[in-house]
Amino acid sequence: MKHRKLVLSTDNIHKVKEIQDILSDLPIEVLSKKEIGLEDIDVVEDGKTLEENSIKKSKALADNIDYMVMADDSGLFVEALGGKPGVYSARYAGKDGDDAANNKKLLKELEKVPFEDRIGSFMTVISLITEEKEIFTIKGECKGHILFEPRGENGFGYDPLFVPEGYDRTFGELDEDTKNRISHRGRALDKMKGLLVQLIEEGLK
Ligand code: IMP
Repeated sequence: MKHRKLVLSTDNIHKVKEIQDILSDLPIEVLSKKEIGLEDIDVVEDGKTLEENSIKKSKALADNIDYMVMADDSGLFVEALGGKPGVYSARYAGKDGDDAANNKKLLKELEKVPFEDRIGSFMTVISLITEEKEIFTIKGECKGHILFEPRGENGFGYDPLFVPEGYDRTFGELDEDTKNRISHRGRALDKMKGLLVQLIEEGLK
């Protein structure tokens, strides 16, 4: 029986579906914020770190309900650019979520950087707030290289420019299952699942 509820602080239906799939074998009902009527709660992501933004998003819902709440915040951190675009990944080129402009800007900034130095990591911080308002955060990382031109149509964001370590295809060329298995978000979600199992076990004691 799914006796505990977990609400996801995101408007992204793909994330909701991915997380519901990953957590489907746990006795937890995973709901979107829309399903509990809190779709109007919007969060300004003005934190200086992924952790700050992630907690801000989960707190916005947890202040209104007593179910568990989960949120994530991600970004691409490129070594040669001192960690940019980082926490500002979604609006690197100015407009929020303009993937084409963001990719173009990234290529321009890395114009003179040789392949061996085009190293970066996608990072995610997932935050979980329990029914008792205890806050947990979990990180996920995927290291890789930034190419000189985009390849592949899958995914979103910087996917066509990013080749994960140990692969020769970009996230934009890899199939969804492979990406979800090795991605920053996939790895963080996997760890988060472990934490949820632990919390369930503690609740049964
Ligand atoms: P969010 O916090 O998951 O919304 O991610 C913020 C921004 O980081 C996105 O708008 C993308 O530009 C970038 N990003 C995060 N995760 C990925 C990914 O898996 N692939 C490509 N870009 C990503």
